[in-house]
Amino acid sequence: SIAYVNGSFVPLSEAKVSVLDRGFLFADGIYEVAAVLDGKLIDNASHLARLERSVGEIALKLPETVARIIEIQKELITRNKLVSGLVYLQVTRGADTGRDFAFPKSGVKSSLVMFVSEKEIVDAPSAKTGVGVITVPDIRWERRDIKSVALLAQVLAKQAAAEAGAAEAWMLEDGFVTEGGSSSAFILTQDDVIVTRQNSNAILPGCTRKAVVALAEERQLRVEERPFTVAEAVAAKEAFITSASVFVQPVVTIDGKTVGTGKPGPMATRLREIYVDFAKATAS
Ligand code: PLP
Repeated sequence: SIAYVNGSFVPLSEAKVSVLDRGFLFADGIYEVAAVLDGKLIDNASHLARLERSVGEIALKLPETVARIIEIQKELITRNKLVSGLVYLQVTRGADTGRDFAFPKSGVKSSLVMFVSEKEIVDAPSAKTGVGVITVPDIRWERRDIKSVALLAQVLAKQAAAEAGAAEAWMLEDGFVTEGGSSSAFILTQDDVIVTRQNSNAILPGCTRKAVVALAEERQLRVEERPFTVAEAVAAKEAFITSASVFVQPVVTIDGKTVGTGKPGPMATRLREIYVDFAKATAS
């Protein structure tokens, strides 16, 4: 496939940055992932707004305007004839002349890398079967609201999930679920309240989470933004996760314990349909 690296479109296998790139040396960078359906970007304005917030929080300057970034996203979709999948973008504080921790003095341009991957999202088999999650301690830093490329804790969490045959790891702090390794965590209580943790520095403000909460509230569904425990999740009617790459995905086991009927529940199924309709109607 074709990737974008600092001004050039090149085959992905030839897409390279310097070993001095601060993303490589320090994970000094920010990323975003937006879904593509029917060749169009899903909820992209929300992803780019979060990108601008994330780079602002670490005083990183985007090397291109947001308008230009959108053009590049679209050009990548076209060049790769991408119908369904993801557009990944990452911006790092560039390659300096050495390995100084402090920011480069000046004249070092941030590095912008983008590539696409094909993925069936709407008709993903796991949406019909549901997935399992395991729980792990949340060992991340205190600014999880920043979409930083420093993902070692999530790499370890998701590897533990993979080894356990689970699709995702829910991370726990002080007895409560923060979020998934690469998704937001939701439950539906026995009295039909949709619960997901409130935004704070403890979690990434998920774009899909935000859209799903708004779509649910528009339909007069009850939503509570608060932390929940694993015990509450296991005892819930339903559980599900949201992200740009899975949309709304039912969770049917937690640490091997069955949630609800052990099959995708009506609420997760309905919210998935509502989100897919929203995605198609607002795609750009
Ligand atoms: N939480 C974390 C830690 C993530 O990495 C992600 C996405 O990768 C999400 C939540 C879901 O965010 P979004 O819905 O914007 O994809």
